[in-house]
Amino acid sequence: MENVSCDYIIAGAGAAGLASAQYASRSGLQTIVLDLAGPGGQALQIIELENYPGIYPPVRGDEFISVMQKQAESFGTRIIPAEVLSIDKIGQVFHVRTAKTDYAASALLIATGAEHRTLGVPGEKEFTGAGVSYCAVCDGPFFRGKNIIVVGGGDSACTEALYLSTLSEHVMILYRGAKLKADKTTVDRVLANKNITVRYNTVVKEIRGTKRVESVVMEDTGSGSSSEQPADAVFVFIGMNPRTELVDMLAKDEAGCIITNDRMETAVPGLFCAGDVRSKSFRQIITAVADGAVAAHEAEKYVRSLSGAGAVKVKILKKMIGLFALAAFPVFAETLPQNVTFWSDYPADALAETITDRMTDDELLSQIFMFGWSGAEPDEAAVPVGQQRAWQRESVRLEYGRYRTCCKIHFVSSARRVVQQI
Ligand SMILES: Cc1cc2nc3c(=O)[nH]c(=O)nc-3n(C[C@H](O)[C@H](O)[C@H](O)COP(=O)(O)OP(=O)(O)OC[C@H]3O[C@@H](n4cnc5c(N)ncnc54)[C@H](O)[C@@H]3O)c2cc1C
Repeated sequence: MENVSCDYIIAGAGAAGLASAQYASRSGLQTIVLDLAGPGGQALQIIELENYPGIYPPVRGDEFISVMQKQAESFGTRIIPAEVLSIDKIGQVFHVRTAKTDYAASALLIATGAEHRTLGVPGEKEFTGAGVSYCAVCDGPFFRGKNIIVVGGGDSACTEALYLSTLSEHVMILYRGAKLKADKTTVDRVLANKNITVRYNTVVKEIRGTKRVESVVMEDTGSGSSSEQPADAVFVFIGMNPRTELVDMLAKDEAGCIITNDRMETAVPGLFCAGDVRSKSFRQIITAVADGAVAAHEAEKYVRSLSGAGAVKVKILKKMIGLFALAAFPVFAETLPQNVTFWSDYPADALAETITDRMTDDELLSQIFMFGWSGAEPDEAAVPVGQQRAWQRESVRLEYGRYRTCCKIHFVSSARRVVQQI
């Protein structure tokens, strides 16, 4: 497994992540952005971005993202296609795990955005990719001149219905509410469009077909009556679910979005959150980008406040190796208290990042062996080597309360392992 260190890691290369990367790189932070699907996120679905100030005439979402990407890279950002699998905080260092590489950084931004909600009706799963779609710009062209149903009544549903109406004269919006809830300009355009009909107070009960979508069974919520509507495609735009699974212990609002303050800080120092995954009232490119910029600004201050931990990493590591060379270890072991806190399978470079240049030798020693948390500790025999990682996670839940991370092993006299690890 490769190990890579930097100042600032960003999970998610959507508008929020790319904006934050640009600001952070420009301010001198070594910045890496990881994205499971490559740069862009939801913005790739925008057919015409016409509400972003300063961009006129409108551009396609992918064009906009391509410029953002180049701009971030021009300041030194590295964008890497990889899914973030887990995040841990060890001391002052964030460890971000992907399939091939472990990343360590002083600050971390969660910008994992949101993914579409599903209807959960019979036929939806079976016909996804065979008429059921969540992306008009991706799949709309397959249904030129066909019967298209759009489910939903918000901004996405209305905007996408307008786009689909350029491909077909037979677009029907099914909406469970009594009034479309997109912004007024968009609603006016939908209602004035002769290719679009709207059925209010209507829910989808089933999507039917043989090999592909052939019809939709819908119910009028007022009368309770059901009817079947011929359809070749069903585009579902009924909202998004925030992607918070990496930080499931953080505080969230009723919609499941992560709560931050206006500096994008979470309850965990150095952990920031930006964009659609964050609790806020307005989810747009411009708010995602603004979140990202604020997070970068705060991350920079945070990283600098760690007394140059990232910048002096190599120097400190060398210093530690000198101080705690294997041969010298028994001397320290004798002087240690009976109950000590230290690492087991803890990467040495990450440990170095938690040590500051200004510390005395004694402080260094205490940082390594006496890391903060001191709950009730099992003895060494109770923590077999192979199980230490699982035990670490549990222990840190106690420390942070709401956040899954690991940093401290707290048990008696296995100090030799620290030296072996270094
Ligand atoms: C169809 C549609 C039309 C829209 N039209 C407009 C518009 O006209 N104007 C406007 O301002 N806004 C529009 N929006 C809203 C706007 O696109 C979003 O608010 C904005 O893009 C959110 O950006 P984000 O970076 O927060 O999240 P996202 O764009 O969702 O990006 C999150 C990224 O994180 C990645 N990710 C998630 N989990 C992981 C993981 N574990 N590891 C690595 N990467 C991960 C995802 O792959 C994704 O690339 C539209 C949205 C949609 C869906």
